[in-house]
This record gives sequence, C-alpha cells and structure tokens, in this order.
Amino acid sequence: MKVPPRIPLAMVPTPIEPLRRISAQYGVELSVKREDLTGLLTTGNKIRKLEYLLADARERACDTVVTCGGAQSNHARATAALAAQLGIQCVLLLRGAREAALEGNLLLDRLFGAEILPVTPDEYRRIDEAFARTANELMRRGRKPYVIPEGGSNHLGAWGYIQVVEEIMAQTPAGGPSFDSVVCAVGSGGTLAGLLLGAKLSQAPFRIWGINVSDTAAYFKQRVLGILREAIAIYDLPVEIRESEIEILDGYVGEGYGRPTPEQLRLITQVAQQEGIVLDPVYTAKAFCGLLDRLKKEPDRFGKRILFLHTGGVFSLFAYGGALEAVL
Ligand SMILES: *Cc1c(COP(=O)(O)O)cnc(C)c1O
Repeated sequence: MKVPPRIPLAMVPTPIEPLRRISAQYGVELSVKREDLTGLLTTGNKIRKLEYLLADARERACDTVVTCGGAQSNHARATAALAAQLGIQCVLLLRGAREAALEGNLLLDRLFGAEILPVTPDEYRRIDEAFARTANELMRRGRKPYVIPEGGSNHLGAWGYIQVVEEIMAQTPAGGPSFDSVVCAVGSGGTLAGLLLGAKLSQAPFRIWGINVSDTAAYFKQRVLGILREAIAIYDLPVEIRESEIEILDGYVGEGYGRPTPEQLRLITQVAQQEGIVLDPVYTAKAFCGLLDRLKKEPDRFGKRILFLHTGGVFSLFAYGGALEAVL
C-alpha cells in the first residue's frame, strides 16, 4: 500500500460532541464530529482533501491551483484560503459568479486574492473543457497550473477521509462501545469514498451512510465507485468494495443543489436553538434532515450510536439570510 504525501493544515483531531436534546427525542445516542472546526476560514471537510492535493501540487512544483464550484462553494473558499497561506496563486471557475452578490464564501475568495472566472451553468456541465482552456492560458502566461476537480473529490482527496476513520476509532474510549453508524452529506463523493475505504482498511466496527444533496443516489454510487476504483488501483489498497456496499439515502435533495426545503431551513433554526450548532443550508441541513427522517421511519436502521459528520459550510449561510428570515 502506498500512502501519498500530505501537508498538515487542518486543526485535527476535531472534537466529537453529543447532541443531547435531539438524542433524547429520537431515543438514540447521536453525536456530531465537528468537521466544521477544522479551521476558521478553512472550516469544513475540504481542507482534509486539500492537505493531499496541495502536497501533490507542491511536489510537482506548481505555482497556481485551479478549481471550480458554485458561487458559494466551500471548496473554492478553502482552496483560496490555503493558496494564500502557502503563497501560491488561485484561479476559481465559479458557476453563476457573474450574477452573485459579494457575500459569504465569494467575498472570502476575493479577500484571499483568488482570480474568479465566472462560468455559465452550461459551461459548468463541460467543466473539463473549461479547466483545459484555463490551464493552457495560464501556461501561456508562464505559470504552472495544478487542476483540482470539483470538491477535491478524486483518489488523492479521498485520503483525507481515509484518515478520519482512524481518527474516529482513536477517539472511541478503549473498551467502550463503538459507533454503529457514521453519516455524512454527499456533494461530490470524495468524503463518502474516503470513509468507505478507511472503514475497510481499518476494519472499522461501524457502517458508513451517505445522504445525497443533489442529483440521485444512483448517480453518486457511480461517482463514488469511480473514486474507489481509482484509489485502490493507484495506491495498491488491499481492499475490495462492491457497488452494493455503497449506501446512499436518497429523497432529501429538495428543489435541487443549493435549494433547501422550508422544512430543512426550519431544521437549521431548531438545531441551532436546541444544540448551539449551526448547520449549513446546502449540505448538512439536507443530510441531517435525511438522518432524522429515516430515524423516525426506521428507528433501527442506524443502530443506537450514530455519528453525524458536520462537514462545515457556515459561510454559505450568510447568502441565505432572506430564506431563513421566513422561518425564524
Ligand atoms: C463539499 C461539502 C460536502 C460534501 O462533501 P463531498 O466530499 O463533496 O461529497 C458536505 N458538506 C459541506 C459543508 C461541503 O462543503
């Protein structure tokens, strides 16, 4: 097995905290792993993947990172912050950035000095072409670009969450009961792919569940399978994962990516007031809504001890003030 190099950037291990009021309501022991505490301006899950991706960029002596996302992309903001920290340039291909207000993540991208190239939804669907054009243009200007795929979700990014499985196991008190389930949002699949690989490699006692925040579970199973196969081949991982082992719960996408339902917006206010934790409207509110809904319908599905990954996203909240006002 080959382990790729990593630049330590995230504030880890992140704490695991019980959600006492919600646990009592649902008759389970629900805890949250505070992946929103991996850093202030680098909050969220993307920094874990970027530790490996940026190590690769550095090894290849690249001086510019290029990545993509929505106008309120957490991944783009984390990349911009870390590029500034490491003294390299950052170019962001952001869907809808031309029309978007300068707030939340987009405001931070600009503060970090990232070059923003707005792309239309149509161009975004063929993002590889836009990446190739941008990389060629940068090379023409004498720069050495490193392209990071959407969400940092590829074989390298997955290592961030392979590692988290070990971290969770180390945080379980010796001899104490382990978690039965670990649950996360699925937006580009890298987090789920990493957790699945990590759980296999470490023979973890818990099952991994994803909840998709856009598209369909079938679509993400294929995407996750692609990342798994790539990682297993490249790093000689001594594991085998079948498609049927990828568990993604569908039905919580609402109107689409970045469009939470009124129920999901209300859940943000409820969790904030009950537990002092703020979920984000794009990922964690949908995933948490899915977890609670399934708990209501199938109380035994996840076992008794459940760990929800709070994967960050707080800055996008500030682009949803109007929507949230309606449910406050
Ligand atoms: C990107 C993101 C996710 C989804 O993780 P993927 O690895 O892209 O599936 C979940 N939560 C937040 C806050 C994110 O920014």
